[in-house]
Amino acid sequence: MKTDIKPFKKILIANRGDVALRVLRAARDLKIPTVSVHSSADNEAMHVKLADESVCIGPAKSSDSYLNIQALISAALLTGADAIHPGVGFLSENADFAEIVKAHGITFIGPSPEHIRTMGDKVSAKKAAKNAGLPLVPGSDGAIESIEHAKKEALKIGYPIIIKAASGGGGRGMKVANTETELPEAFGSARSEAKAAFGDDTVYIEKYLKNPRHIEVQVFADSYGNVIHLGERECSIQRRHQKLFEECPSPALSVKERQIIGELSSNATKQLGYLGLGTIEYLYENGEFYFIEMNTRLQVEHPITEMVTGLDLVCEQIKIANGQKITLKQKDVVFNGHAIECRINAESPETFIPSPGKINTFHPPGGPGIRVDSTVYQGYEVPPFYDSLITKLIVYGKDRENCLLRTQRALDEFIIEPIDTSIELHKKLICNEDIKRGEYSIKWLEEKFLPNL
Ligand code: ADP
Repeated sequence: MKTDIKPFKKILIANRGDVALRVLRAARDLKIPTVSVHSSADNEAMHVKLADESVCIGPAKSSDSYLNIQALISAALLTGADAIHPGVGFLSENADFAEIVKAHGITFIGPSPEHIRTMGDKVSAKKAAKNAGLPLVPGSDGAIESIEHAKKEALKIGYPIIIKAASGGGGRGMKVANTETELPEAFGSARSEAKAAFGDDTVYIEKYLKNPRHIEVQVFADSYGNVIHLGERECSIQRRHQKLFEECPSPALSVKERQIIGELSSNATKQLGYLGLGTIEYLYENGEFYFIEMNTRLQVEHPITEMVTGLDLVCEQIKIANGQKITLKQKDVVFNGHAIECRINAESPETFIPSPGKINTFHPPGGPGIRVDSTVYQGYEVPPFYDSLITKLIVYGKDRENCLLRTQRALDEFIIEPIDTSIELHKKLICNEDIKRGEYSIKWLEEKFLPNL
């Protein structure tokens, strides 16, 4: 650590939920005071109760509060915060926000606005990734303008294809066409979904891989050109392209493959001149990796990497944004044991309909290897306005078998009542034979598991 760098005086956390708490805890470990922000629907939220200071930035609607740049900057200036952590979601991948924060003399804890912008548009992201030496999913070179253009590109690539939104996120704006007959409908609905969700109807085409896994690599870079990777995370258990259950390491990779994709990812990060934490996402099929996107922020599933590396990613992220050097060399990063994350949402485990409401009983699990990153407490009322993720159960075991057993033990102990949660779904998942064998792809949950529930 360089000693002439003064730590941040105060960090404003521009987020809510478990991620706001996660940042607050890291800041506390670094002895940095925090300012929480909250909407009027979140007066009783944990991130408000635990912060050193808290500022109400608007009404319940996210666009008036957590996405309200003016209110966030005013809160930072009023409280004297010299850094802003954007968390996950909301403004965390908004290049304009990062630029405005910087223009006010405040440090944005994240990469440069230029990198956020390049990676936020998947067409430019793919170009940048290709130039940085990463293998791409075969697809169109750029945006697709018309159905005729789409047909031409699809013929070159070969069906099935997937039409994806350039500004996409959260699995929205993606449509599959298995044949040319299905193309016009898929093209039209991908475009209109993209326009409605992101205000941008730019789309592009990729080969639709039939049975891939989603494997991502955590990278980490400082402002002195040091880059390391922190291994991979297996995120193939998804519903509607949204992750539900993640594990680290991936049961599909050999030691050699892990080393190759890790090195490729850190070399690309170095070539991009990237700063801070980032995640390079790949599809993996028949032993080949294909870049799909780079997330320029902390990931929801980062704790499983923390469990197997013993590092605190958020503390490291704050220190790097503060101008400090990565003190670790790649050879010092040691991967030990196995970790699993179960995302526990306030929703029905059968219909997936959100189930906000008051929690009368909250009994989290404990014992060796258990970590619960939760926003809820007994008597807390889950508001209906936001993402339904309320708790993350993170489990560590000396190997995969031990980790699976501990996850089952933790889920059996976990009580959140009376609202519906995904605990019941995870309980069934964890004792499934395919999961036990680690044999699953991104299609598995929707095609094999959910229909049999
Ligand atoms: P988002 O930013 O919306 O999360 P991604 O590009 O990361 O979009 O893709 C999300 C998920 O969609 C992937 O994890 C995978 O399940 C599926 N997917 C994306 N591209 C393809 C593809 N070319 N072939 C098959 N599945 C895909």
